[in-house]
Amino acid sequence: MDENKRLKLHEIGYVLHDTCAQCIYSQFNYGSDYGTCGLFTYEHKKHADSTRQLSINRSGWCPSFIDERLPQDQHFAEFKKGQDHGAS
Ligand code: SF4
Repeated sequence: MDENKRLKLHEIGYVLHDTCAQCIYSQFNYGSDYGTCGLFTYEHKKHADSTRQLSINRSGWCPSFIDERLPQDQHFAEFKKGQDHGAS
């Protein structure tokens, strides 16, 4: 990552949060904020015979989160690693 970019991100207090968007279990259609979790299902109330994958939002999170950042996000993954350890 460009050094000045990294410094600016730290200067403005930029933080990368773990969310469903980076979770190994999530599935999203391109460009959509809504998708499904591959780990959890629920019984739909109106359709009693229907077990469905749980609907999720990109900005959501749960304790079963497992990080799976795409290779092209590597620079931001490194930035996040630095924020986790308080490095500048
Ligand atoms: S963070 Fe939780 S709810 Fe979101 S995709 Fe991962 S396991 Fe599913």
